[in-house]
Order: sequence, then C-alpha cells, then structure tokens
Amino acid sequence: MLDRALLAAPSGESMMRHAVPRGFPPRAFTLILVLLAAWGMSYSPTFTTAAIASPGLAGSYAPLGFRSGSPDREVTVVLDPGHNGAGASHSAEINRPVPDGRGGTKPCNTTGTATNGGYPEHKFTWDVAIRVRDALTVRGVHVVLTRPNDAGIGPCVNDRAAIANRAGAKAMVSIHADGAPPSGHGFHVAYSDPPLNDSQGPPSRALAETLVETFRAHGFTAANYIGSHGLYPRPDLAGLNLAQIPAALVECANMRNAQEAELVATPDGRARYAAAIADGITAWLNSSAAASGNRRRP
Ligand SMILES: [Zn+2]
Repeated sequence: MLDRALLAAPSGESMMRHAVPRGFPPRAFTLILVLLAAWGMSYSPTFTTAAIASPGLAGSYAPLGFRSGSPDREVTVVLDPGHNGAGASHSAEINRPVPDGRGGTKPCNTTGTATNGGYPEHKFTWDVAIRVRDALTVRGVHVVLTRPNDAGIGPCVNDRAAIANRAGAKAMVSIHADGAPPSGHGFHVAYSDPPLNDSQGPPSRALAETLVETFRAHGFTAANYIGSHGLYPRPDLAGLNLAQIPAALVECANMRNAQEAELVATPDGRARYAAAIADGITAWLNSSAAASGNRRRP
C-alpha cells in the first residue's frame, strides 16, 4: 500500500506521450528517446522512492537498504499506535492510575483526539502503524506492535513500554496525532527529558532527530505551535519515561487543523506519514547511534 501510493505519480513516459505535439517528426522523437535512455543509464538515483529524494538528505543515510549485521540476528523495532478503539467506551478502565516513570502516576490511557469531521486518532495511529510495519518488514526488520488491533482497551502506557523492553528491540516509536488549536500545524517528535537511563539520553534524542529529518524530507513542516524545530523534549510521557531502549513519540499532525485533518483522514496522506516514519526508523537502524544505543543487548 505504501509503495503503491508513492509510485502513483504520473510516470515520465505517460507525461511525455501527452506532451508530444501532433505532426512531430518520428525520427526526431526516436532521437530524443535514445538520448533519454542514455541519460537514464548514467543517472542512478540513490533512492527509489521519489518522495525521499531530498538533496539535503541524500548523503546522510540510505533509507531503503537496511544493513542488518548478520542474517541470523533479526533486528526488532516496536511500533506503538497510540490509544485504542474501545478506549472511549471504557473510561473507568483507561482512567486507572499507572506509574508515570518519574515517581508519580498517569491515567492508563486516553481516548485520543479526532478531526472535526469525526475521524479518530486511534484509527489514524493504527492505520499508519500497519503501513510502517509493512514497509519495515519488506526491509527485513521484525516489527512488534503494542496492540494487536484497533478494537481493544489499552494497553496502559506503562505496559506499552514494558512490551518494548521485553521485545529486545532496537527502538520504540509511538505514533500519535495532536489535538491543538486549529491555527497550529505541523509535526513534532517527543523524547524523554531529562533522561532516566542511558537509552533516553543521546540515543533517544538521535532517534527523534532522525525522524524530524525524514518528516522534513517527505515534505512535512515542523510544528508552529509547540517544541522547537520539530523536537519536543518532555518529562511527562510514561511510555517514554519507562522505555529502556531508545524511544520517541511522533505527533504526526494537528487533527484540529483543517488542512492536516484532510491529510490524516485520507489513505494517501496516511501513506505519506507512514513513509516518513518508516524511513526515519530505517535511517536510525543504519546509524551509529543505533549500534550504541541499546544497552540491553550485547
Ligand atoms: Zn495521542
């Protein structure tokens, strides 16, 4: 689904067919085709997805080729789709206090937000997570989800971190969308700060920064209402506080902003968010920060 959406742009061939004027000499046309073919052979783009071919990022990572260390050691990533489909109808369960990772408590979970048109955040995060999972699986990454479907309650935020810690994963990425005042727009990426363990210091920040880079590469702009340049260090997210592996939480968009509401509520828009997250995770896995970021495994 991801690749299909990215490849849906009109091909050069079909555009050219429409651009050829009537009466254009066939021999000249053949010559142009030969020249274009020769150019095509000498031009070999690093990335096969058009959306990621950003000049600013071209030299910094190779998003489509995950370099796994050895074939017998599978690399695992945990995706955490925020909220859950049955949360809104089980307020007692999701309001139960759970540890917040800093000595206090937080509600087990929240219902999440929605667009003004009624498209709920839990549906968005689930759909995006599945797209990210599929993209990463194709790249040879083993993906663990913190919930099995979009029809349940929870898991509580502390349990989501526990799932990630148990999975022996290289990283956990939580997927959310925000519900801010309508004038606010753009994405932001949160990480635990001040850090509570080695994985939450520079490794988690590097993961967050990598996600910011790939969101930008996919044409998204950083939030204009929160954080700084797309980054938002914060102490109050239990899932991040309790993570013992590098972890970040992406707020893809502001669902209360009219333009972004349109994007999150359409499959093409969700494919774009998923591509940005999948490329960010792939870039992270290929980075030296990932190699040193997980202290739980040798
Ligand atoms: Zn959320």
